[in-house]
Amino acid sequence: MQRTYIKDLKNKVGEEVSVSGWVDVRRDHGKLIFVDLRDMSGKVQAVALPNHKEAVAIASTIRSEWVIEVLGKVNPRPEKLVNKNEENGAIEMEITSIVVLNEAITPALDVNGDGKEIDEEVRLKYRYLDLRRPRMQKNIRNRHKVMLLARNLLEKEGFCEIETPNLTIATAEGSKNFIVPSRLEPGKFYALPQAPQQYKQLLMAAGFEKYFQFARCFRDEDTRGDRQPEFTQMDLEMSFATEEDVMRINEKTLIETIQTIYPHKKIQQIPFPVITYKEAIEKYGSDKPDIRTDKNDPDLLAFAWIVDFPMFEKGDDGKWTFTHNPFSGTKPESYNDLMNKENIENIMAAQYDITLNGSEIGGGSIRNHRPEALRKVLEIMGFSDEKIEKEYGHMLKAFETGTPPHGGIAWGLDRLIMILENEPNIREVIAFAKTGEGKDLMMNAPSEVSPEQLRELRLKIDKPEKKNN
Ligand code: ASP
Repeated sequence: MQRTYIKDLKNKVGEEVSVSGWVDVRRDHGKLIFVDLRDMSGKVQAVALPNHKEAVAIASTIRSEWVIEVLGKVNPRPEKLVNKNEENGAIEMEITSIVVLNEAITPALDVNGDGKEIDEEVRLKYRYLDLRRPRMQKNIRNRHKVMLLARNLLEKEGFCEIETPNLTIATAEGSKNFIVPSRLEPGKFYALPQAPQQYKQLLMAAGFEKYFQFARCFRDEDTRGDRQPEFTQMDLEMSFATEEDVMRINEKTLIETIQTIYPHKKIQQIPFPVITYKEAIEKYGSDKPDIRTDKNDPDLLAFAWIVDFPMFEKGDDGKWTFTHNPFSGTKPESYNDLMNKENIENIMAAQYDITLNGSEIGGGSIRNHRPEALRKVLEIMGFSDEKIEKEYGHMLKAFETGTPPHGGIAWGLDRLIMILENEPNIREVIAFAKTGEGKDLMMNAPSEVSPEQLRELRLKIDKPEKKNN
């Protein structure tokens, strides 16, 4: 018999059906055995009655998380047993036979509750079990819906999703790079991208005009509670665009996505308020102010754009460095100062961040598309001609070939979903998250590699430095 999904059972009252899934709980009432059955679409109560002896015999052996196929009849529940709080509370399945598809050992953790009381290391180690809980299923499925809808909306606006390489060279986005040794060229290394920044700009040079990508980004940062060494950005770039163009298209996409997938959420202000960096610091003491009018409302979403950032700031070493990334362009009124390398502290970047309930969920800028302007930025940062040529030569060259003015943005997808799902950290919205220390406890990564592999890569491991704690 063809499988019926549990969500469709309510339309099959009186019919014989076959249902497959996991045993959520089994309750033995002597002659009657109740089995709550779960599949990806929902839950249903099934009951083995004494007149189906074989079914009762099997039902008495099954345990939570066993995978079974049940044949039975969908019955309406007697009026007084109807549970209005459950989707299938008005029906139950009368079991005629059970096939055990796989047994399960006693699960290492309870998959029924919200799991918040369970030690997170245990949850991450047995992530495949942890993901069975309804809360995690909802988070991951809603994440998919947000991505799918945003993709479709951007497609309608003429954007094209293009993949960019993960094996590339080191890029400067303010963190350390993960590096990958090359076997074919021993002693040389790839780096995993911190963001597809250079590739997306090169796609503008290539004439695509409107690009986006759900891109994995890799940043080797010191232990930071709510960071992951790899995370996902909705990365976007467009040609011939002003700051307002980029902001408008992103605002529209966010609003439509949220109103469709989270219709119960209230967006505090549309269009999103635009606050200058200076005002944000003066008024709220933060460049990601929480402007919610009611901070107790879990369904209130207060977006804001933060604009008019200074382009450069002094780093710890006293040298000028970029505030966002080296590719940001200036506001038109600061262009001459950049080209003359004058008045550097007052040069304003054509840069915007987007904040939500006090978190930065995205940021971007209109770029320098003229090679001489990018070169000035790099010179202000004190880079030698040699370093500029080595690390940025390909960008400068591309900009000499007729690269249009362009700009873009990236959203931190994990953080956005985290806020939409009212979760306390991004690990709750990432299927296979790593710990705050960057470990994958389920796969046991990072791990050592074999001496043969090291030899092949011509690598030698120095004794690890002793940690002084
Ligand atoms: N690549 C930038 C980042 O990751 C975003 C952008 O400027 O588009 O922050």
